[in-house]
Amino acid sequence: MHVVTRFAPSPTGYLHLGHAFSAYAGWAKARANGGTFLVRLEDIDATRCKPNYANAILEDLRWLGLHWDGAVRVQSAHLDDYTAALNRLEERGLLYPCFCSRSEIMQAQAAPHGGEVIYSGTCKALSAAERAARIAEGRKYARRLDVSRAVREAGVSRFSEESTGWLEAVPQRLGDVVLARHDIPTSYHLCVVHDDALQGVTHVTRGEDLLAATHTHVLLQTLLGLPTPIYAHHKLLTDNNGKRLAKRDGAPTLRAMRLAGEDAITILKQLTESAP
Ligand code: GLU
Repeated sequence: MHVVTRFAPSPTGYLHLGHAFSAYAGWAKARANGGTFLVRLEDIDATRCKPNYANAILEDLRWLGLHWDGAVRVQSAHLDDYTAALNRLEERGLLYPCFCSRSEIMQAQAAPHGGEVIYSGTCKALSAAERAARIAEGRKYARRLDVSRAVREAGVSRFSEESTGWLEAVPQRLGDVVLARHDIPTSYHLCVVHDDALQGVTHVTRGEDLLAATHTHVLLQTLLGLPTPIYAHHKLLTDNNGKRLAKRDGAPTLRAMRLAGEDAITILKQLTESAP
């Protein structure tokens, strides 16, 4: 098998060591197997993603020596592709409009799951007439996947997780996820599934914080007739207090480390040696 991996950051800020670790995991797997390492910019959210971060990410990867193969796919340039995939699900009656505001969703959440908000399904109960009336009023809406219907249609989906072996997908873990936002005609879940298949990704290496999302992605792959890659969810790097590195907690950025005179080879060596 020709191994194809990818690093798919969202350019919402500068990369920190946690990102470097994730990028390294994909790069090392590709290089060890004579495969292909891709970089994809997941920048569909124009309010949060900035071109200067996109450029900085590529610059930081080059500095680390994590060179990628071929062109960088920039998701915001391909919104029509995602709309086509969305429409295929819509035509099969697998989506429903959700008019809930953020605060309504938080208040009515079905069950908090590892920090994820699981939608309670309020809008799934609306009749066709109620939906049509709200849309006619000009109410904004997102489109959600009707997971129970989708599972009935798709049957059991499985995926191979490198550390644990075959797992049955349980997309109910994330519930009726949003596949198109009111202000963005798609969502992370749809784009990632579409692009991993389009780009022939054989191995998805990413943090274990995305494991629940993988269950949803495998269902979407089955629904859309796309291949399911092999997954490897790695542990997340933590700070000295055991807290996962995060932008919002001021994890030092790669660029700050570079400006402070740190050396890329030493950083990568530390990452691989202290890898959780
Ligand atoms: N764009 C996602 C993020 O930055 C990662 C997507 C993935 O690796 O599947 O969190």
